[in-house]
Amino acid sequence: MVISMKLGATKEQVEHICRRIQDFGYRVHSIQGDERVVIAAVGIGDVTHCLDSLQAAPGVESAVRISAPYKFVSREYKAEKTRIGVDGAVIGGDQFVVMAGPCSVENEKQLMITAHAVARSGANLLRGGAFKPRTSPYDFQGLEVEGLKLLRQARQETGLAIITEVMSDGDVGLVAEYADVLQIGARNMQNFALLKALGKAGKPVMLKRGLSSTLKELLLSAEYVVSHGNSEVILCERGIRTFETATRNTLDIGAVPLLHELTHLPVILDPAHATGKSSLIPALARAAVAVGADGLMVEVHPCPEEAYSDGAQSLTLEQFDRLMSDLQPYLTLWRDGRGPAQAGTTTS
Ligand code: PEP
Ligand code: MN
Repeated sequence: MVISMKLGATKEQVEHICRRIQDFGYRVHSIQGDERVVIAAVGIGDVTHCLDSLQAAPGVESAVRISAPYKFVSREYKAEKTRIGVDGAVIGGDQFVVMAGPCSVENEKQLMITAHAVARSGANLLRGGAFKPRTSPYDFQGLEVEGLKLLRQARQETGLAIITEVMSDGDVGLVAEYADVLQIGARNMQNFALLKALGKAGKPVMLKRGLSSTLKELLLSAEYVVSHGNSEVILCERGIRTFETATRNTLDIGAVPLLHELTHLPVILDPAHATGKSSLIPALARAAVAVGADGLMVEVHPCPEEAYSDGAQSLTLEQFDRLMSDLQPYLTLWRDGRGPAQAGTTTS
């Protein structure tokens, strides 16, 4: 259950509620918020009596039952969608946000050419990996700090906000100095030390679905970040492992509307990693719009055949430009479809 205290509830009132929860045999799982305190409690058994009693206690605004194993990220906890402001863009609001750029930051020329081009075509964020999670230790591992510096330069030159991956808890502070959004790769979705460290990162996080992860596991990973203090989490569907080998992964398109039912967090679709094939990206980008994703992440490279990583799924600058203009009629429908039910305010 989640107990929201009234604005200005006293410390004594909060302590009293925590004691009452424990008296009922439940555990206080976390307490969040400075202005408005929200207490999450977990335990086994029927909570009805506890809820009724707490609702009558001084300082309590509301006490609600959350049946999902994840609390703070559930729709039951917060009905309105979370909006996350990143520079000028708002993810989860009435704008379809596009993140585009190379898989890996390779050198200054490659990054600046791409950054200027995607900015001209209307991207909202520049993506690019400086720390690369590669299946093989012999593959390009990323430029690391040098790559972060190039991303900062691209930000200065184009005004685009930066999303880039952080792979370990020890690097969160470093990457957060350069990035506007911290990307957590599919292979790290259940790196719990990293998820906990992100709670204190002070920057929004985009959490990619693990290669073989269920939506429940994805949401529980998001819950780690939120329950450790960072409510600005974006989810990303990027395909999952199935028996199908014709595509790199299988895009779980149904995950997008289902996540919207289960959680208030924004959902981004990544058709590049989902398929591994640049030819499939325009159709799946349209699908992302049609199913109500909050945005798109795509890989773009000036010369995909020379890319250090993921060339086969990278769009050329021209293909990306065409994609953006071809999406426009669909985006008009998308905006019309964003009724009041989709609107909401940020939790941060
Ligand atoms: C990436 O975005 O380049 C990446 C490595 O993605 P994923 O973690 O989804 O494989
Ligand atoms: Mn990639």
